[in-house]
Amino acid sequence: MAEGYCVKCKAKSQMKNPVVSKTSRGGYMCQGTCSKCGTKMSAMMSEDNAMKAIKEGAKKSF
Ligand SMILES: [Zn+2]
Repeated sequence: MAEGYCVKCKAKSQMKNPVVSKTSRGGYMCQGTCSKCGTKMSAMMSEDNAMKAIKEGAKKSF
């Protein structure tokens, strides 16, 4: 599952309903909500991690 930093939990957290998108600069970004508190979160990802997240069930939006 995709992981990101939650500003509310102030810790790394698993992302719920992750959506992977591509940035204008060619990077990958994953957006979702914190599985612990529900706060929206996003994380920059390498291509490897983005593909892994999609394989593990993240939505692909590019
Ligand atoms: Zn949180």
